[in-house]
Amino acid sequence: MRNAYARLFTLLVLMVCAPWAVAAERPFEQVYCLKYAVLEDYPLDGMLLGAPRDESIDIPMAMCVARRGSDVLLMDAGYVNQAVAAPWGGAGYVDYRALFSEIGVSLDQVTHVTLSHLHWDHVGGIERFPNAKFIIQRRELEYAAGAMPHNSVARIAVEKTDVLELVKLNWEDRVILVEGDHEGILPGVDVYLTPGHTIGTMTVCVATVKGRVCYTSDAVYTYRNIEEDIPLGLALDASLAVESFKKIRRLLRGGTLIPGHDPAMFTRPGEFGFRKVSEHAIAIVE
Ligand SMILES: [Zn+2]
Ligand SMILES: [Zn+2]
Repeated sequence: MRNAYARLFTLLVLMVCAPWAVAAERPFEQVYCLKYAVLEDYPLDGMLLGAPRDESIDIPMAMCVARRGSDVLLMDAGYVNQAVAAPWGGAGYVDYRALFSEIGVSLDQVTHVTLSHLHWDHVGGIERFPNAKFIIQRRELEYAAGAMPHNSVARIAVEKTDVLELVKLNWEDRVILVEGDHEGILPGVDVYLTPGHTIGTMTVCVATVKGRVCYTSDAVYTYRNIEEDIPLGLALDASLAVESFKKIRRLLRGGTLIPGHDPAMFTRPGEFGFRKVSEHAIAIVE
């Protein structure tokens, strides 16, 4: 009998302390995407290869959040250093505390952050999440920490301070390195290697009450890239990125795709079945 009580106690402790470990197959109840800044007058051919050279657009800087009870998964971490964003046309930056309060989430609640790749606009905000572990492709971090500094093309949009911070966090046991595809890396969370934009760009798919949602980040800049098979304007290997479009179409399995920088998601959310819920947030699933 004493053993039975001990087992029950252990189970209760696990349920309180490790919700991710016992959440089993329960789907995520909400997915939101938050636009925290824009890049103004970004050249269109930087998004869609072959677009007219003289056209430009304002592109959203965004990250997405999946919630299931007390489990909060953040997909990409944005940036905090506005001086880095300024030369790229960064504007309209929103402080994270206010931004996340629009969807009722505090920064401390975020326990896991997937990092799609190491460009400053996706990884520069990691310091804002003190309780989080960070999930990234092993090759993305290894390349940035080793060979990348000696390759002038690969270095574009990567900040030394971000790489060093992530290496430090890895030493502190706060980084989970992924090798390629890993379905179920967390309950209801699948990650996939979809390279081309960078050497280890990662797509994240979550199981939700409304079906599968896949956040491709910059593996797909805009819906037009993947729908019309238009290569990314900025890619370390454009043909490999197009191969990743094919993989993403397969792994989507009829679900909802969230690209990295599509303005229409935020300006016309209804067209995609999304809903504007606050000044900076749209609901993908609610
Ligand atoms: Zn990028
Ligand atoms: Zn980006």
